[in-house]
Amino acid sequence: MNAEIIAIGSELLTPFRTDTNSLYLTEKLNQLGVEVAFKTIVGDNREHLVSTAKLALSRSEIMIFMGGLGPTEDDLTREAVAEAMGLTLHRDPEIVAALEAWFAKRNSKMSANNAKQGDVITGAVVLHNPKGTAPGQWIAGKYGAHEKIVILLPGPPHELKTMFDQECAERLRAKLPPLFIATRVLKVAMMGESACDARVAPIYKEYADVQTTILAGAGEIELHLRARCDDLDEAQQRVDDLAGELEEELDDSVFSTNGESLDQIAGYYLQMRGATVAVAESCTGGLVAERLTSVPGSSRYFVGGMVVYSNELKAKLADVPPLLIEQYGAVSREVAAALAEGVRDRCNSSIGIGITGVAGPTGGSPEKPVGLVFHAIADEDGTDVVERHYPGDRQRVRRFASQQALDMIRRKLM
Ligand code: AMP
Ligand code: MG
Repeated sequence: MNAEIIAIGSELLTPFRTDTNSLYLTEKLNQLGVEVAFKTIVGDNREHLVSTAKLALSRSEIMIFMGGLGPTEDDLTREAVAEAMGLTLHRDPEIVAALEAWFAKRNSKMSANNAKQGDVITGAVVLHNPKGTAPGQWIAGKYGAHEKIVILLPGPPHELKTMFDQECAERLRAKLPPLFIATRVLKVAMMGESACDARVAPIYKEYADVQTTILAGAGEIELHLRARCDDLDEAQQRVDDLAGELEEELDDSVFSTNGESLDQIAGYYLQMRGATVAVAESCTGGLVAERLTSVPGSSRYFVGGMVVYSNELKAKLADVPPLLIEQYGAVSREVAAALAEGVRDRCNSSIGIGITGVAGPTGGSPEKPVGLVFHAIADEDGTDVVERHYPGDRQRVRRFASQQALDMIRRKLM
């Protein structure tokens, strides 16, 4: 069966609100083996709502309408869906009594417009809302020649999630053929999207039954694998087989095969090797320290760090010789190495990280353009420096640089 999600609310058509509910529902539906074929966003306009509902009824088997179940004038979902389905509404006295009790419990009196939330489409099952006042509705049955499932959920995300999980998931599962879904996520560090795709596409094309999605970010690519099958072991076997082949092809560029972040993986290797790390950051402004310490238990391997933005502080805190900065410039291979060695020495860690670069958008020059970053890693055996030229804006350059630094820790200890 395929599904359609309809988000209702004029605010969702402005630049100020995003429809996040549909992401939640999509994940839940996928877990039930249901693909989402359409997502629509429609404002609080009765005519538009009715035509949207009619279109959905004509092309989808499962429809989830969300939002517009409140008590105000612009909450039109019940009326519009009833009209599109050719059904009537009736006011359910039990819901109205429950609403009155809800207000009484909070020492306030229900205003008359709230009673509208008791309007139920004929034949609908009322879905309890433990987090708010607007109940949801579930209508399942023959519509024309076809079986349809129409669900109405409230818009506030915490109400929607609770109601879907408690009132809809099992009802839906009971209507669906048994289907199991197995997933795997492989993460790849510091490889371009097209380079990665060129290597993996010939492999995943051989697995037509496993859905493969590539999500690219700064210095990180995620390969999402998903197999659906009426047998769980078989579905798992298919994604595992594909994951194994992809891992073999991409070799040590794959840093995670079960969804772990690079922050976690770098920490994992540091801990496993009994190593400690300290960082001296310039253009990343503490981002590497932030990412390392975002992992619980990082005190076991993260000693500390310094943000040494000015030349003066690079010399004063990280012992970078001022002459080195004069001779090569603050953004240089030599200064990156000196930062890594200096912070390692000063902080008494087994590994030191140094980062210096031009994050932009200003400050670039022909020899040292925006996006140029030097990353250094120092340990007892010496110091390695990697020079990279990153594309994108300031935040993206900084993210790339932090990613490279964490990947250098991983590769050093792997
Ligand atoms: P409503 O049920 O239409 O009264 O919506 C109540 C509130 O829920 C809105 O003001 C939004 O803040 C939020 N909301 C409604 N629909 C969505 C959605 N699709 N995604 C995220 N938030 C939503
Ligand atoms: Mg609304």
